[in-house]
Amino acid sequence: MQSINSVFQGQGITKSLQYVKGIGPKLGERLAKKGLTTIEDALYFLPIRYEDRSLMSSIRDLQVGTSGGATGEVMVSGEVRYGRRRGFEVVISDGTAILKLKWFNFKLQYIKGRFKQGTKIKAFGNVTAYGAQKEIIHPDVEVVAASGDDDLLKTSGGNLAGGLAGGGLIPVYSQIDNFHQKTIRKIIDSIVLDYAAGLLGAVPRGVLAARGLLTLGESFTKAHLPVAMDEVELARRSIVFDELFSLELGLALKRRAIKKEGGLVQAGGDETVLKKLGELIPFELTQAQRRVLKDIKRDMRSDRPMNRLLQGDVGSGKTIVSLIAALIAIDSGHQAAIMAPTEILAEQHYLLIHGYGEGLGIKVRLLTGSTKKAVRAEYLHEIKAGNVDIVVGTHALIQGDVEFRSLGLAIIDEQHRFGVEQRSFLQNKARKSRDGKVGLTPDILVMTATPIPRTLSMTVFGELDVSVIDELPKGRQPIETRLMREAERQEAYGLIRRELERGSQAYLVYPLVEESEELELRDATRMHAHLAKDIFPEYKVALLHGRMKGAEKEAVMADFKAGRFDILVSTTVIEVGVDVPNATVILIEHAERFGLAQLHQLRGRVGRGSRRSVCILLAQYTRNEDTWKRLKVIERTTDGFLIAEEDLKIRGPGDFIGTRQSGMPDFRSSDTFADLGLLRDARADATAFLESDPELTTPEGQRIKEILRHRWRDRLSLAEVG
Ligand code: ADP
Ligand code: MG
Repeated sequence: MQSINSVFQGQGITKSLQYVKGIGPKLGERLAKKGLTTIEDALYFLPIRYEDRSLMSSIRDLQVGTSGGATGEVMVSGEVRYGRRRGFEVVISDGTAILKLKWFNFKLQYIKGRFKQGTKIKAFGNVTAYGAQKEIIHPDVEVVAASGDDDLLKTSGGNLAGGLAGGGLIPVYSQIDNFHQKTIRKIIDSIVLDYAAGLLGAVPRGVLAARGLLTLGESFTKAHLPVAMDEVELARRSIVFDELFSLELGLALKRRAIKKEGGLVQAGGDETVLKKLGELIPFELTQAQRRVLKDIKRDMRSDRPMNRLLQGDVGSGKTIVSLIAALIAIDSGHQAAIMAPTEILAEQHYLLIHGYGEGLGIKVRLLTGSTKKAVRAEYLHEIKAGNVDIVVGTHALIQGDVEFRSLGLAIIDEQHRFGVEQRSFLQNKARKSRDGKVGLTPDILVMTATPIPRTLSMTVFGELDVSVIDELPKGRQPIETRLMREAERQEAYGLIRRELERGSQAYLVYPLVEESEELELRDATRMHAHLAKDIFPEYKVALLHGRMKGAEKEAVMADFKAGRFDILVSTTVIEVGVDVPNATVILIEHAERFGLAQLHQLRGRVGRGSRRSVCILLAQYTRNEDTWKRLKVIERTTDGFLIAEEDLKIRGPGDFIGTRQSGMPDFRSSDTFADLGLLRDARADATAFLESDPELTTPEGQRIKEILRHRWRDRLSLAEVG
């Protein structure tokens, strides 16, 4: 067998596209803009859909009520108004009849430029009729290559026959630069023909046979050079399975490696410090908080490193739990680090912990991207000398120059915003913290409010043990969620006003910072001015968004928290963690643009005090039934786990195990992955395979080991892969 080793070592699919015959540096650069730099990238650039050319016909022969397509020339095009709604219409003709194409959701500049008179286009979609006029609403459109455009790619045409000839199924790719589809097809086709054959993939032959799947080479060929739809589906399934299998196998190896490591024994923090803290906090811990603390203490005391995930819905009180864990580490003679995904959140944690720290005699430092250079240098010195007990920070914490004297516990808040890479980075840093020597692995506590469906958590949090806070603090009022349409805007403002009049504060969240030329969306900056001037002139309205400087953001947040502003107009920078109990109403504009988990997080900004809170979802573009259904889920329940399960049903698991969550670097086929059963099968097969070949020493095991190394790169250490 021509070993796959060599295939992976530069000769084959890792080869840069610009060295491929017919591509070259110029074309290569344009491809790279789309993230396509290697042969492998191109192979994984799967079609977004397939067009059945046998359904193409003349416009006259298009059947109303079926899907079909036709080619024609643009006669007229332009913006149209239907009452208050805007649309864009294009009329094409092919000499047999005319066909109208309509859009309701579009970027005007772009669409105008695309459908100039005389442009030859191919349109595809569901044919409807308006009176006697045939129409396609939101058609799939391809601008047909004008002659002369075709020789962009000078490949030896001979081997390109495949999918291009004749009718039947044609793959349609996501747009690359301003290439014509035909050009993209040519590029991909020639790569498939030259490189796909012989690629085996990570799945053992026996498993492929048992599951009725194809090798990777066969799969790429069938996905890019389609013959029949059922083959295409099998091909995609096989590609996804191959990725899932290597994901599961990698995770299994990681779990095994971690079990072998030695950890710090941190048995401190039992009496005095915790008693003191107990006197400082204004509430009793919930049962659930106590229970997870028990898990944490047990882990910290053991001589194996803790790798625990603390899952708890928004507002369930994870922060205090993490602070107690930090105190245990400190009392055991070590340091603790808390990493948060945003500066706002890091700052908030810092203020809280700093506040308690004073009473406890604990020194806390904040380290973020906006910490001044000189100050940073001073902090780093203190941290290294062991004069700082808790370091709170953002990514700035894991930069190369931060050294701890003895890091005992690393806490990562809102872990879904980080990748596994960062987690292991912090861990590796800590391993080396004992006087520069590689030492024992510190304890790791990661926290998330993004409920990962139970069905998935084993995979997403591959090597972690899980504790769940499944109870909210006493006295919390349920949040009332109202899904409203644009026509109800005034009523929404009325609800906000009602809360403000009671002395509460409000969040108004927008999807964009500034007005966008391309999208007709309400944006934070414009709305801030409008709200402050026209709608709530008697209240103080602040603006917060991600493009502001760190210090500015902090100041606005601190002022809002202190009640110096009544309304905070913001982008999603407040999505995670922000805690202002006096805020009892949140309005989310263009709710249709956010994912369920994100909406749930945003809603979690209210309902933190003892007063009843309201969350208003204003949805503007919801023609689509699914969108409305999705938003209804949020209206119906505040149970994060239920929402996650619904999200899973709607989006499929691919999104959940993207790069961020799993640390699997190139989960390339995720958007086509909708089948949870496939994931379960892959996990079962990976586990079984590892049992049969624990050290991956059989020829097949060695081949697979090589692929894992390539796919996980440095995310799996050599110790793990063996
Ligand atoms: P999250 O789990 O979303 O990070 P936080 O830790 O920010 O939640 O806690 C949310 C709010 O609940 C905070 O204002 C915190 O002080 C408060 N809180 C935490 N634990 C309790 C408790 N046991 N009883 C009452 N309030 C609590
Ligand atoms: Mg939190």
